[in-house]
Amino acid sequence: SARMLDGRALSKEIRAGLFERSLRIRNKGVVPGLAVILVGNDPASKVYVRNKSKACDECGVMSKIFSFPGTVSEYELMELIAELNVSNEIDGILVQLPLPGHVNVRNIIGCISVNKDVDGFHLYNVGGLVVGGTIFPPCTPYGVQLLLEAAKIEVASKNVVIVGASNIVGKPMALMLLQKGATVSICHIKTRDLSLYTRMADILIVAAGKPGLITADMVKNDVVVIDVGINKMSDGSITGDVDFDSVKHIASWITPVPGGVGPMTVTMLIENTIRSAELRMSINQL
Ligand code: NAD
Repeated sequence: SARMLDGRALSKEIRAGLFERSLRIRNKGVVPGLAVILVGNDPASKVYVRNKSKACDECGVMSKIFSFPGTVSEYELMELIAELNVSNEIDGILVQLPLPGHVNVRNIIGCISVNKDVDGFHLYNVGGLVVGGTIFPPCTPYGVQLLLEAAKIEVASKNVVIVGASNIVGKPMALMLLQKGATVSICHIKTRDLSLYTRMADILIVAAGKPGLITADMVKNDVVVIDVGINKMSDGSITGDVDFDSVKHIASWITPVPGGVGPMTVTMLIENTIRSAELRMSINQL
């Protein structure tokens, strides 16, 4: 049976270290600060924002939530971001997605100062990822990378297969592991024979948002399985994209859902914010 990649335990460890880092800079008069912009009434978004602000408290990061009704204009959001960009209390600016349809996500993210783009979604940071090396790696792929590192799972020369090609998970994940020397395949909804790829995987990363998508017959022995999916079932429970109960007998390592990638994502957001504050402090001291 597979060993667990325990994101909850690793997060706890990393957050303790982050608290120390934040204490060090607070002692020098810099309080790390994160601004979170929340638009509309999406219940999942509200839960995510609450979790992020709790994690900030835990790590000694000041957080401010800016809530807007779903009818807010692009202009109003841009005005707030312009203020936050020059605020000396704010090191990170995060716009909780999704935004309502009348708001152009690219326009909004494009307004965030690249030095405060702790989600790593600004095109400048995306470009950094493409050429290798970015100030702020996007939080979910960054968290997955640390989970692999903590378990001493080598990625160089491995066949990595990623199911899901979104801008926030699949694509940046592929670029990061390519940079680390993996041979990467990216599958998506139009992939003709998914299991042809998944059976090839030494490391399989699934971020499709489809419960039960990956079954035991689709993976090879000793595969490392990272399940990024978060699916809310009709009984209220949370499940991933992988049929955990059958795949765990074949895999060498597997992430549980919940308690795998989820907690890591939030932790990496705090890490990016504290790193931004550390940079601000070192610039102040020049
Ligand atoms: P998305 O909806 O933007 O993208 C889904 C991707 O999966 C697309 O590229 C699509 O082509 C592909 N896909 C969908 N069905 C498929 C199928 N049957 N076969 C092959 N490919 C298929 O999703 P996203 O924002 O990347 O999120 C994916 C999942 O990860 C969701 O469940 C989301 O809740 C979860 N998520 C978790 C975290 C975390 O912190 N753990 C963070 C972000 C997203």
